[in-house]
Amino acid sequence: MTETKQLTFETLKSDVNDGSIDTVLVCLVDMQGRLMGKRFHAQSFVESAYQETHCCTYLLATDLEMETPDGYASTSWEAGYGDYVMKPDLSTLRYVPWLEGTAMVLCDVIDHSTHKPVPHSPREMLKGQIAKLASLGYTAYMATELEFFLFKESFEELANSNYKQMTPIGAYNEDYHIFQTTKEEGVMRPLRNHLYEMGIPVEGSKGEAEAGQEELNIKYDEALACADHHTIAKHATKEIAWQQGHAVTFLPKWDHTRIGSSSHVHQSLWKDGNSVFFDEKCELGKSEIMDSYIAGLIAYAMDYTYFMAPYVNSYKRFAKGSFAPTKIVWSVDNRTAAFRLCGAGSSAIRVECRVPGSDMNPYLAQSAMLAAGIKGIEEKMKLPPEFTGNVYKDSEAESIPGNLYKAIETLRASNMLKEAFGEEVVKHYVRCGEVEIEEFEKVVTDWEVKRGFERV
Ligand code: ADP
Repeated sequence: MTETKQLTFETLKSDVNDGSIDTVLVCLVDMQGRLMGKRFHAQSFVESAYQETHCCTYLLATDLEMETPDGYASTSWEAGYGDYVMKPDLSTLRYVPWLEGTAMVLCDVIDHSTHKPVPHSPREMLKGQIAKLASLGYTAYMATELEFFLFKESFEELANSNYKQMTPIGAYNEDYHIFQTTKEEGVMRPLRNHLYEMGIPVEGSKGEAEAGQEELNIKYDEALACADHHTIAKHATKEIAWQQGHAVTFLPKWDHTRIGSSSHVHQSLWKDGNSVFFDEKCELGKSEIMDSYIAGLIAYAMDYTYFMAPYVNSYKRFAKGSFAPTKIVWSVDNRTAAFRLCGAGSSAIRVECRVPGSDMNPYLAQSAMLAAGIKGIEEKMKLPPEFTGNVYKDSEAESIPGNLYKAIETLRASNMLKEAFGEEVVKHYVRCGEVEIEEFEKVVTDWEVKRGFERV
């Protein structure tokens, strides 16, 4: 669907010959949703590295600090931290317009000994669910929103103040606010234009409901393309802000007194160029397949919350009255519900899952939701009645897990996800969550110190 200004391998070769491209970034997506990889001299890439290169297995078993936590079955000091094969997916070749003479490519990650894709690689997990859906005859289209905060200070200045002096660029709630967001155009305009230029179908950006909070919207696309777009856009946001001397954060809640940042996911299923979620004969225009898909999302919401909210901080976002969802209900165009039905009565009908935070890994979040939705369709699940009104106030419905401890337990117990991804993959991500908790529990927080001190 996307009209990408696609960079073909042939064009890249001629760009390398005429000297306009000299560097190729060869990247995988790690568990945290970051780009990891190598910078190749473009000549070396077009001669050999386009076929494969290698990286250490710890890249899919590390944490935000790039440490080597223990407890992973797939890799360890004992196993010698060997190599994976990074196999460039040449259909993802793109220019990187904000870096001079540079192109990039995303890779699939292959096991050296089995020669099969690494099962816990996020891109592989999503591909697996896309293939499962294809076997039912459907294609998933998705859109992920990217929310983040921009600061007056640079990354260095924030670090030097130990994250105490943080000044958002905006002055107050800048939801839809044109003047406040004009102040952010130094970062946002190159971001929109560079992404668009590299074939990522940016729709636009807008101010969000806090000072200095922005939202970037990218047009919906097939699920894998959507996750690729999200990952590159997030990377671009950080790099372009850094180039302009501004810090940016995708932390879901950098200050508990302010609104958090989310990454809602819009979803619809298609067949032969038409949405199978739309059926004009049905109430609200939602088809039976859509009913079952949402029923699956609802039934298994507890199982996959970890993939929407993978850090300790993620759960600080789920506050009542903050536009972040707390209850597992669906509702028509209702921003207080976890599942918001959008585009009712039209062919644009879709479900928006409002649970994911801005820290989610889109491959993991989308693959987990697809697994749940597919289960709903396979089992012809019935959609529970719609919730209407203020979910924060009135709903007795089940809550999503309120913290990382609970979400890890519901992930550990999920037979649905074990069936979808394999038991070892679920164990791998349970370990990933446990590492976050273990690190957090070692630390004395500012809150504890302040609360415990006598005041005079
Ligand atoms: P919101 O009201 O949450 O701001 P928007 O109307 O801006 O929602 O739409 C959000 C996203 O939904 C857009 O990025 C758009 O590309 C996407 N979208 C539109 N139609 C579909 C669809 N049929 N399936 C999936 N996503 C869609």
